[in-house]
Amino acid sequence: MKKFIDGKAIAEKLCETLKRKVKKLKNAGITPCIALIKANDDPASEIYVSKKENLAKALGIRSQTYKFLPGVKENFLANLIEDLNRDPDIHAILLQSPLAEGLSFKKLINLISPEKDVDGLTSVNQGKLFAGEDCVLPCTPQGIIHLIHSVQEDISGMHAVVLGRSIIVGRPMISLLLNNDCSVTALHSKSRNVIKICSEADIIVSAVGRPKFITKDFIKEGAIIIDVGINRITISEGKRKVVGDVDFDDVWNSVGAITPVPNGVGPMTVAYLMSNTVNLAINQNRKKLGLV
Ligand code: NAP
Repeated sequence: MKKFIDGKAIAEKLCETLKRKVKKLKNAGITPCIALIKANDDPASEIYVSKKENLAKALGIRSQTYKFLPGVKENFLANLIEDLNRDPDIHAILLQSPLAEGLSFKKLINLISPEKDVDGLTSVNQGKLFAGEDCVLPCTPQGIIHLIHSVQEDISGMHAVVLGRSIIVGRPMISLLLNNDCSVTALHSKSRNVIKICSEADIIVSAVGRPKFITKDFIKEGAIIIDVGINRITISEGKRKVVGDVDFDDVWNSVGAITPVPNGVGPMTVAYLMSNTVNLAINQNRKKLGLV
C-alpha cells in the first residue's frame, strides 16, 4: 500500500475527465453553471470561493458569484435562492458556510431545490443518503471515499471511525462508509474512550478542527488516516500556516496511508463540487441529451 495519499494529483486526474465531459456538454449546447453565494466577511471563505471560481473557469464551467456583507437580510437571500431555483441556466447552487451571524444556514440551505443542491446538504438529499437511496452526495465525503479507494479498493468489513458529526462532513461520511459496507463508529465531543476506539480503527476520518489532535496513540499499525481538518496556526510573529487535525510527523511511522494538509482532502472537495455541477447539468437536461 502507498503511504502518502496525494489528493492534489488525484483531484487533477478527476478534473481531466471532467474537462472532457464539459466539452461534450458544450457541444450539445449546455454549459454547466454553478451559483456561489457568500454572505459573510470571512477571509477564509473568500479564498474558498475564489478557488471554486478558478477551477470552474479552468474546466469550462460557468460560475456566478453573489457576495453579501453581514447585515444582508435573510429574506433577500431566500428570494435570490428562489430565483436561482427557477433559472434553467443555473444547474447548481452552493451556499458557502459559515453564514454571517443572524442568518440560518439550515433554513436557507433547505430553500435550495434538491435537484440543484450541489453539496447535497438539503434535508432531502441528506435523508436519501441516510436511507441508502440515490441522491446528490456531499462533496467532501465523496472526495474522501475516492481517496480511501485510491489505496484500498475493497473496504467492506473494515472498521471506520469518523470524528465529528457536522452535516457537511461527519454525518454524510458515516452514511457513505456504511454504504461501502464498513463497520462505522461515530465520535464527537461527548464521546468517551476516544483514543482507545480510534486505536482499533482500520480507517480514521478526522473532521474535528483541532491542530495535532490525532497523535500516534490513536493509530493502529497500518491504518488509513484521512485528515479533513483545516486549522490556521501562528508559527511566528505575523506568520501563519494551515495544518490538519493529525500530527503528521508523529503518526507517519505507524500509518498504512495518510492524507497531507494542505493538498489532501481540500482539492478533492473542490473537484467533486465541479463533478456534481456537471452531473446536475446532465440530469436537468436529460431530454435534450437524448437520455430519456
Ligand atoms: P464542526 O461543525 O465544527 O464540527 C466539528 C466536530 O468535531 C463536531 O461534531 C464536534 O462534536 C467534534 N469534536 C470536537 N471536539 C471533539 C473531540 N475532542 N473528540 C471528538 N470529536 C470532537 O466542523 P466541520 O464543518 O465538520 O469541519 C471540521 C474540520 O474540517 C474543520 O477544520 C474544517 O475547516 C474542516 N473542513 C475541511 C474541508 C475540506 O475540504 N478539507 C471541508 C469541510 C470542513 P460535537 O458535535 O459534539 O460538537
